[in-house]
Amino acid sequence: MKSAILESLDNMVIRENFLDPELPEDGFILKVESVAICGSDVRIFHRGHVNVKPPQIIGHEVAGIVYKVGEKTTEFNEGDRVVLGADVPCGKCFYCLRGHQNNCINLISFGYQLQGGFAQFMAIPRAAINAKIVQKLPEHLSFDEACLTEPLACVVNGQDLSKIQAGDTVVIIGAGPIGLMHAMLARAKGATKIIVSEIAEKRLEMAKKFDIDVLIDAREKDPIEVVLKETDGLGADVVIVAAPSGDAQAQAIFMARNLGIVDFFGGLPPNTKDVPINTNRIHYKEVFVHGSHGSSPKDNALALKFIASGQVQVGKLITHILPLDEINKGLKLVETREALKVILKPW
Ligand SMILES: [Zn+2]
Ligand SMILES: [Zn+2]
Repeated sequence: MKSAILESLDNMVIRENFLDPELPEDGFILKVESVAICGSDVRIFHRGHVNVKPPQIIGHEVAGIVYKVGEKTTEFNEGDRVVLGADVPCGKCFYCLRGHQNNCINLISFGYQLQGGFAQFMAIPRAAINAKIVQKLPEHLSFDEACLTEPLACVVNGQDLSKIQAGDTVVIIGAGPIGLMHAMLARAKGATKIIVSEIAEKRLEMAKKFDIDVLIDAREKDPIEVVLKETDGLGADVVIVAAPSGDAQAQAIFMARNLGIVDFFGGLPPNTKDVPINTNRIHYKEVFVHGSHGSSPKDNALALKFIASGQVQVGKLITHILPLDEINKGLKLVETREALKVILKPW
């Protein structure tokens, strides 16, 4: 098959007949139709990851067609249209048994330990089927939209922990694809005021096309002041930091109301210095601060429902569709923030 191989850091090459997947007798072979580039793919491309051992095929936002099923596989038939979750939990550990499979102690992921989706085919093991992270697609849903189920599932998990509800004022710091997914999902969950803050020119421009009540150009205005003004001095119910910035995390504490909730959704680059946070503000205002990462099977199921019902229109995020051969161009488009979501087509 054709695939994009991460041979070493900063070196992604298209190859034929290398790392071809084998049909698992209790799994299946997926024919990849659409695979989106995630910000984490760009990070792995440049900096690597402890769980990615080159040469490897990365990419974990994948939709496609069941191409060949193993003899012991009964859940799927050839021709089924499906989407994958990225994380394959064990189903047996402390966190799995409590429904927080994204914290699974034995977690393995597509595009990390397992071969990813920047390829024409992937082997889907039994563990992924058992974990229910392979979902069949409704007929009307395109592969390009469907492959965005995985990032939306991470957003679903974050907003679940933040307990977003009808009538909330939600602040989102960062108008990248994840920030905009947060805006769309918060609206679908009934948030009545959505405030988004961003510093990158191109992203501010693209964010104008989305259903956002207050878009803050944080180069010109102090986002904390704007949030307080927009909330009668109270602060927001929920503040989501969807930007890899310690400063933004520190600011977020001042944007939340008393008993408000702050989610550090975006991770910071490794080796970042510890971030100074005003803990007295957390103490006196009874602010709840939490992080979130990854997604569980239930989040993937919910994400697909939001997409299929049209309540979260992920298609609006797709700015580029490229053949797999142009993966290096795609990675650049994501890195320079010219793109929101780039979809690669291996066929
Ligand atoms: Zn991703
Ligand atoms: Zn587990």
